[in-house]
Amino acid sequence: MSALFPTYARWNIKPEKGIGSKIIDVEGNEYLDFISGIAVCNLGHCHPKVTLALEKQLDKLWHVSNLFQIEGQESVAQLLVDHSVGDYVFFCNSGAEANEAAIKLARKSTGKHHIVSLLNSFHGRTLGSMAATGQDKIHKGFGPLLTEFTYIEMNHLAALEEAVTEKTAAIMVEVIQGEGGIRLMSKEYAKALQDVCEKYNCILIIDEVQTGIGRTGTAFAYEQFGLSPDMITLAKGLGNGFPVGALIGKEGLKDSFSPGSHGSTFGGNPLAMSVAEAVLTEIFKPELLESVQQKGEFLKNQLQQQLSSHKVIEEIRGKGLMVGVACQIDVAPIIEACREKGLLVLSAGPKVLRLLPPLIVTKSEIEKAVEIIADVFADIEQKQSMNVLK
Ligand SMILES: *Cc1c(COP(=O)(O)O)cnc(C)c1O
Repeated sequence: MSALFPTYARWNIKPEKGIGSKIIDVEGNEYLDFISGIAVCNLGHCHPKVTLALEKQLDKLWHVSNLFQIEGQESVAQLLVDHSVGDYVFFCNSGAEANEAAIKLARKSTGKHHIVSLLNSFHGRTLGSMAATGQDKIHKGFGPLLTEFTYIEMNHLAALEEAVTEKTAAIMVEVIQGEGGIRLMSKEYAKALQDVCEKYNCILIIDEVQTGIGRTGTAFAYEQFGLSPDMITLAKGLGNGFPVGALIGKEGLKDSFSPGSHGSTFGGNPLAMSVAEAVLTEIFKPELLESVQQKGEFLKNQLQQQLSSHKVIEEIRGKGLMVGVACQIDVAPIIEACREKGLLVLSAGPKVLRLLPPLIVTKSEIEKAVEIIADVFADIEQKQSMNVLK
């Protein structure tokens, strides 16, 4: 019997220790981790520099609240604005909270309410971020939803033209839909988004909770889509496993987040900031980002080479180390079979296998993972052909 609410369908593994790209469970089984805590442990488990930064802070000061000046917030905010198109940062504790802040700031700064987001998107589970999420299954049972949200199909220019009006406060999007199936925005659509925001004076919010912090081979994924968002939301990779979120916004938004307008007790506390500073210092190194691009290409090429013969595979797509293998079949049994062979992978929707290795993964670890995936597909294809013969 468990005293936990059964909100998660959990796997039968009890992880005890993590080192780099590996997880070891309580029974001593070793796994190659191509999930990274869902795009969180971008520097791998227990990265020595991140651990050291937290250890140092642990003996100094944990929490004082935002009544005080917190030096760590200043330096992490500076790192974020130096590496993005934004000018100011608000710290919170999760992706959903970052998106809540973005929705509130968009409404307050424009004086408008209507928000456009994409079908298949994922922005979080709180009331505001859930309303922005364009998936019925996430809303089910939790209504009435926050009003004035419109969901449109990504990469559909006419739908965008139709949905956005003078009354639209913001458009909120992921440039690569993570939970929604590693679906990429087209460059043409990205340009149209920027144009429509300019035309109607509405705020462009890019949710980089999953794609940010080096995951796609640049500091933020929007850079690769030619965008200049008014707001960027972050969480997952920012703390490498320590809970922290952030909203980055452009200059013009400053006055709408005046003292007393928004806040968070824990947001930006010294522990979180010590970790985030160590993480960003590593992630923003050009050679690290360069290596993510190279390893991402290597991973996609290896998958392409080893899996191309399997008819159930539709497409291999993604950017950097955020890669999807879109299949014609449900991927749940594939994920389970990979796990049995010592590789941890996850899904993005029922038919897409999602690979999110830590950014410090090695080429030989990539080769090993691809070998396991190829074995699993070969087994499944063999079973399928036997069923046909029966
Ligand atoms: C995970 C995720 C969120 C929600 O983050 P939480 O920290 O779980 O609240 C929001 N947006 C995107 C794109 C995500 O991948």
